[in-house]
Parts: sequence; C-alpha cells; structure tokens
Amino acid sequence: MKLYIVATPIGNLNDITLRAIDVLKTVDWILCEDTRQTRKLLDHYKINTPVISYHQHSKIKKINQIGNLLNQGKDLALVSDAGTPGIADPGNKLISLTLRQLADLEIIPIPGPSAVIAALSICGFPTDRFIFLGFPPVKKARNKFFKNLNHIKYTIVIYESPYRILKTLDDLLKVSAVAHRQIMVARELTKKFESIYRGNIKKVIVEIKKGLIKGEFVIVIEPKK
Ligand code: SAM
Repeated sequence: MKLYIVATPIGNLNDITLRAIDVLKTVDWILCEDTRQTRKLLDHYKINTPVISYHQHSKIKKINQIGNLLNQGKDLALVSDAGTPGIADPGNKLISLTLRQLADLEIIPIPGPSAVIAALSICGFPTDRFIFLGFPPVKKARNKFFKNLNHIKYTIVIYESPYRILKTLDDLLKVSAVAHRQIMVARELTKKFESIYRGNIKKVIVEIKKGLIKGEFVIVIEPKK
C-alpha cells in the first residue's frame, strides 16, 4: 500500500526523472487530473499503466474507491497536469483525505519540476526566504489578498492564468508597498514560447500586451528593500 506523489514536466516532456518513469511503469494504477494530458506523457515514455481520473470536482465516492485500492495493497502514483502534485492543485486534498482513512499509508515523494521553483530559480531576487501564495482569489477575498501583500517582507510568488494575468498585474499596481517594486513574470516555462519579463509592473504590463496573452504564468515580486 504505497501512494507515490510523482512530479511530471511543466511543459518540456524531457523534464522527468528516471525514477519517476520507473515508478509510473511499475505501480498498479496512475491517478491523474486530465487523462488526455497525462496520456501524452505516458505515450511518450511507452508507459502502459492504467489510469484513474482524479480532479478538483471528484466526489467522495472516487476518493473512497482510491482508498479501497490502497487498502487492497495496490500501489498508486498520483500525477497532476503539470509539475508537482499537491502544489496549488487538487492533489493535496486527496493526500489529506487518504491519510485520514488509512493510518498506515506510505506516501512517497518523487520530486521533480514545479513552476514555483523553476520561476524562483531565475528571478535574481533573494530566495533564502520566499512566500508562495498560489492563485489570487477571483472574487471574494481578492481585495484582502492584495491588501495583505503590504505586510509581506519576502520575495512573493503568485500563480496566474492567461485570463487574469493583466487584471492581477493591474491590481498589484494598486498595492502601495508593491507598486514600485521590480517583478519577474515567467510565461510558458520550458515550452516553445517561454518568455521572461523583468522590470517594474508598468513595464511588464506593456511588454506582455505586445504579444498574444496565452499560456501559464508565474509572477515573482522582489522583497521589501
Ligand atoms: N502543481 C503545479 C506545479 O507544481 O507547479 C501547479 C499547478 S497549478 C493548477 C497551475 C499553474 O501553475 C498555472 O496556472 C501557472 O500559474 C503555473 N504553471 C504551470 N506550468 C507552468 C509553466 N510551464 N510556465 C509558467 N507557469 C506554469
């Protein structure tokens, strides 16, 4: 009864560890968010392990089914659409619920890519301390989220989708303690159209608007001076 938490590429299919491939080949089942997305990776590495979908809308029945497989002694691997499962994705709900159901469950990390770490690694801001805030809330608590940034002293990392990246950068401009800081926005890391924007928020907005606003984004904000 083992649950492996397996990091997979955030774009470039070569960014996977030998251990991750080995685990994905040998477990009984792979739990994945979007089966079509994971299928591309599995086909690329000729992995024939059967998959079970598990995503943010999965019902308790699905979690119980996964718990039953583990209880029967099966070994499972959890992957997400990209990066490290459980980091700002539905993985950690599954981990917390299965831990509650199965006290003896062995959970084993298979580390690898994560967009937060990839972005931090090239930001050039201090990273001995940083705070990762995931996605800003869309409606309720959005104002509070931005207001609270005034109190954070460390390098800040935020995830954002193409639909809200400009809105979020605009909202950052309204945060007095952050508005004049340097930021780095990483778009489509490890992919064909990887783009890195650096400068103050106004400059980065202008640069992003010059191209197609597509893909996935990480925003890194320099710490308070
Ligand atoms: N668990 C994943 C990880 O370890 O990075 C993150 C999952 S979260 C649902 C998806 C978000 O991660 C995207 O909206 C984007 O903010 C960020 N992300 C994922 N892949 C990325 C990439 N290749 N380039 C930039 N950001 C990425």
